Amino acid sequence: MSKIPFVTKEQVEEIVKTYPTPFHIYDEKGIRENARAMNKAFSWNKGFKEYFAVKATPNPTILKILHEEGCGTDCSSMAELVISEKCKITGTDVMFSSNETPAEEFVKCAEIGGIINLDDITHIDFVLSALDEAVKSGRLSQEALGGEGRRLPKRMSCRFNPGGVFRLGESTEAVQVMDNPGEAKYGMTKDQIIEAYKRLSELGVEELGIHSFLASNTLSNEYYPALAKILFELAVEIKEKTGVALSFINLSGGVGIAYEPDKPANDIAAIGAGVHKVFDEVLVPAGMGDTAIFTELGRFMLAPYGHLITKAVHEKHTYKEYIGVDACAANLMRPAMYGSYHHLTVLGKEDAPATETYDVVGSLCENNDKFAIDRKLPKIDIGDYLCIHDTGAHGFSMGYNYNGRLWSAELLLREDNSVICIRRPETLDDYFATLDGFWDVEV
Ligand SMILES: *Cc1c(COP(=O)(O)O)cnc(C)c1O
Repeated sequence: MSKIPFVTKEQVEEIVKTYPTPFHIYDEKGIRENARAMNKAFSWNKGFKEYFAVKATPNPTILKILHEEGCGTDCSSMAELVISEKCKITGTDVMFSSNETPAEEFVKCAEIGGIINLDDITHIDFVLSALDEAVKSGRLSQEALGGEGRRLPKRMSCRFNPGGVFRLGESTEAVQVMDNPGEAKYGMTKDQIIEAYKRLSELGVEELGIHSFLASNTLSNEYYPALAKILFELAVEIKEKTGVALSFINLSGGVGIAYEPDKPANDIAAIGAGVHKVFDEVLVPAGMGDTAIFTELGRFMLAPYGHLITKAVHEKHTYKEYIGVDACAANLMRPAMYGSYHHLTVLGKEDAPATETYDVVGSLCENNDKFAIDRKLPKIDIGDYLCIHDTGAHGFSMGYNYNGRLWSAELLLREDNSVICIRRPETLDDYFATLDGFWDVEV
């Protein structure tokens, strides 16, 4: 089985005349079609919104494309809130699912009218004092909070952590998804979240939501429906115990993609239908049929629609066969950090037999800088272009500057097949900018 790149060797040969390798390139058509399929899968829910997890691909052009398709942003830091604001994505199009959050970030979120999603019950008092202080000092207008007398925004959310182990599938062999919320730093316990809703509604918050993230990169159409069941049942219990009818339920991220070409992909239509079924079984009979469903997907929205394109620059025959490329883990950290599989295509050799076994490696002085280990590939010649697949999410964004490696460009393949630059490559001047004025420090 194989994966088909969205660019050909001929296209890459044209692109490199203007933008040398390595670079990340995104496929506008794929992004738009997938976003439409996502919205269609949940179109049965009136208030549905996907808040794209900005951390996955924090590029303004990408955020604007997704916004045009009806998506908001899910932010988790000051920089992500500011990117969103600069893209004119504000108000209830912004979710702020952060943790260990500095006070000024809560203030920024309130300023742009975003939805603060509290990670802990103690953060109610923390946000109250942050916002009180900001209003008193004039950094935050009373209007941003929704008018006179308000201390908190009208609409807020709380993050839930059910604890224990989350598992899908009956027997050990059939386990499709497993993760360990009880060991995760995020979210509130059930008792805490019920207490939090009581306090928040006493404090005048009118629209409350719940959020939970139980497992990452799941490859199962059952993950969202199983999570939805847990949250929907809890929402009914919250209504019974506190009188608070939640306005929205946020299923967060975690719907994965098949990085390996032989794994079955998730079917978003089936996932939407699965959530719909649980919605009709649990929320509708409880009189909560107008609850909005939110999602915060990053990987599912973007990963397949990005490639890292790199060139083979060295080959080496020692105890193994190595191909050295001009990209490195600073451009794509996942293989080094998690041992993740990313499929590779040698452009122009899509149909050539995989006769060789290579380690495909980058230039960092770190032996984990390997895009592929013992990978069966066609014979690679120096100068061949390699397409590293599924780098559209958590790819460029996890980059770093180790070994003085510079950030690459990000390009966009438009729907008309033209290519535009959506972030220029970093230069040595950029890299050294934080040292301006420090070259002549006396030692
Ligand atoms: C990372 C993250 C997401 C997105 O996760 P994906 O695996 O990319 O779907 C969504 N919400 C929160 C709070 C996150 O931390």
